[in-house]
Amino acid sequence: MSMSIKFFGAAETVTGSCYLVKTGNVSFLVDCGMFQGKDVEYRNYEKFEFAPKQIDFVVITHAHLDHLGLLPRLVREGFRGKVYSTQKTSALSYHLLLDAAKIQENNLQKRLSTVALYDTTDAIRTIQLFNSKSYKDVFEDHGVKMQFEKVGHVLGAASLKVIDKSGITGYFSGDIGRLKHPFLETFDTAERKADFVLMEALYGGIVHPDREKTEAEFVSYINETIDRNGNVIIPAFALQRTQEILNILKKAYREDRIKKKVGIFVDSPLAINMTNEYTQSIFANDVQGAELFDFEKVRYIMKPGRMLKNSKGEPKIIIAGSGMCEGGRILGHLSSNLPDPKNAIAIVGFQAEDTLGRELTLKPEEIYINKKRVKVRARIKQFYGFSAHGDTTDLQAWLDRFEKKSLKKVFLVHAEPQRMQKFDEINADLPIYIPKWKEEVSI
Ligand SMILES: [Zn+2]
Repeated sequence: MSMSIKFFGAAETVTGSCYLVKTGNVSFLVDCGMFQGKDVEYRNYEKFEFAPKQIDFVVITHAHLDHLGLLPRLVREGFRGKVYSTQKTSALSYHLLLDAAKIQENNLQKRLSTVALYDTTDAIRTIQLFNSKSYKDVFEDHGVKMQFEKVGHVLGAASLKVIDKSGITGYFSGDIGRLKHPFLETFDTAERKADFVLMEALYGGIVHPDREKTEAEFVSYINETIDRNGNVIIPAFALQRTQEILNILKKAYREDRIKKKVGIFVDSPLAINMTNEYTQSIFANDVQGAELFDFEKVRYIMKPGRMLKNSKGEPKIIIAGSGMCEGGRILGHLSSNLPDPKNAIAIVGFQAEDTLGRELTLKPEEIYINKKRVKVRARIKQFYGFSAHGDTTDLQAWLDRFEKKSLKKVFLVHAEPQRMQKFDEINADLPIYIPKWKEEVSI
């Protein structure tokens, strides 16, 4: 018996993670992600090249849209198997998928798109299929044994270990976090054996800037803006980045490192729901989430409008989504704050190619938001040291856990091609393989 993997996403690109695994007469998906960015998003609308009904089960590594955003479409088109994830991923996915469905419905209503990939009903049917497993559970479906492993990155994120009936053992990394993190637990470094691993290489060959230095730079960027009486607009992913920014702001506020005459707002229902999931968790340093993220200065905005208007005149820090400025309330804040040189935009997360967020990092003179021209006079600064993704050192530490002589293939995915080539060069002694989109490889 042999196993094969067909790469339906994150092959030579960063988004759309989706791998079809076949072993014997069993077929399952690892992740079912959405493509993000103008050059690839058309792929979300292409017909699936497999029958969703024929997929036996799906495993989701973590609650990011580029890893599960197409799942409701799979369900809409007939998938009825189980969806395995960790407990926290399942809880976070509930909020994420309902929000994603609402965006689909709104875009259709506002005629920003002509087709909705799915709607709220599909999202609810998808959530009903979720089956939570803890990191300790070894579970089995159609004779395939599986286990989740901690990997850092975001709350609930996991790598997946798979053993098929014939004993072929493989690991799907999911997104790999950093070995050192202020509050998230990450992967262990014990040695293990596998026939293949499939891993992300987003920052192959790149070392992240020092985290503490980045935090200090971020805080002084905020203080400079407050001194000008300007606002700081922070596009942030609802999951993990929003909570990390709140954690940094809380520390700075408590230690009097941030000017007190500022209002701090989380203007994103999704980020608020995600933060609530975090607050119920206990983190590596034995603290409860609420102690890490919440403080008296923060205002949470579920319904848009009034609260922000009431605070007119006072400089504001506004955290809103989406993280790559591809939609959501951040667009309104950008439209109203970009034209004024007093204000500042802090880019704190990864910006995929061809997204509005990436465009902003290039400091253009003007941009288009929902087809309207907006002058860019506000300051824009990108901070690289906050990444939830490991840098090349972390990726190496994750990979070095595997006994070299048993590895038959190391697939690199979820990165721009030059990053994977770099990681390949660093690991020239390993059987590295960089698959193409829709390529099928036997193991
Ligand atoms: Zn991720």
